[in-house]
Amino acid sequence: MKTVLITGANKSIGFETARQLLQQGYYVYLGCRDKEKGSQAVSQLISEGLDQVEPIEIDVNNKESIKAAREVLGQKIKVLDVLINNAGISGTMDSALEVDITVLRDVFETNYFGVIEVTQAFTDLLNGASEPRIVNVTSGLGSLTLHDDPTWKYYPFKAAAYVSSKAALNAYTIMLAHSLRETAFKVNAVDPGYTATDFNHHSGPGTVPDAAARVVKAATLTAEGPTGKFFSDDNSPETGISPW
Ligand code: NAP
Repeated sequence: MKTVLITGANKSIGFETARQLLQQGYYVYLGCRDKEKGSQAVSQLISEGLDQVEPIEIDVNNKESIKAAREVLGQKIKVLDVLINNAGISGTMDSALEVDITVLRDVFETNYFGVIEVTQAFTDLLNGASEPRIVNVTSGLGSLTLHDDPTWKYYPFKAAAYVSSKAALNAYTIMLAHSLRETAFKVNAVDPGYTATDFNHHSGPGTVPDAAARVVKAATLTAEGPTGKFFSDDNSPETGISPW
C-alpha cells in the first residue's frame, strides 16, 4: 500500500485530496497543525468507510513541529511514496507598494520556506520509494509570464505577498526537480484552480473535488509522467501546462 503525507489536510483542498487518495487505496497521513481539527477530519473519513488514514501534527512554520512529525512518521514507516505540500496562506491582497513586510514574511514562511523545510525533512523517507512523488500546491497566480500579459484574466490580481511566494515556490520546484532529475522522483507544481474554500471566503468558481483531482493526478503520475512542470488547467486549458 502506497503512503502519502499531505500538509494542511484537515480541510478544503488538502482534505479532499486525502479523500480521493484513500479512494485510490493509498494510506494517508493527514497533516494538520491543530490536533483536534486533524482528529475530526480523520473521523469524518473513517465514517465514510475510508479508514486507512491517521492524523499527523505538523505546523510547516515551526521547525520543531516538522522535526517531531518526521520522527513520528519514521517510527511508523520506512518508506514514504508521496509528499504533497498543500498548506498555504493568502496574506493580504495589498499591492507591491503597500504590502506590509511582516505579511510578506509570514506568507513566505508558510508558502515557501515551510515547503522547503518539510521537503528536506522527508526526502530520506521518499528516497526509499520506487516511484517517489512530490507535489507542490502552487497557484496559477504564480506565473510570472502571465503576470506580464495584460490580456490574461488574472492580470489585475497583483497581490504582492501571495503571488511572489508562489512564484518563488515555482522556482524552488524547478530547482528540486533538477536536483532529482537522475532519479525516479517526479517533482511538480500544481495549480488547483480558483476554488471556493475558506482561503478566499468561498469566492472561487471551481469546486474542491475538481481542485483535489488535479493534485491527485500529479501525485499518482506513472514512471512515464513529466517532472519539473507547472500544471494548470486554469491558465492553460488546452495543454494543462502553465508557462512559469
Ligand atoms: P484553506 O481552505 O485556507 O486551507 C488551508 C489549509 O492549510 C488548512 O488546513 C490550514 O490549517 C493549513 N495551514 C495553513 N497554514 C499552515 C501551517 N503553518 N502549517 C500547517 N498547515 C497550515 O486553503 P485551500 O483553498 O484548501 O488551499 C490549499 C492550497 O491551495 C494552498 O497552498 C493555496 O495557496 C492553494 N491554492 C488555492 C486556491 C483556491 O482558490 N482555493 C487557488 C490556487 C492555489 P488550519 O485549518 O489549521 O488553518
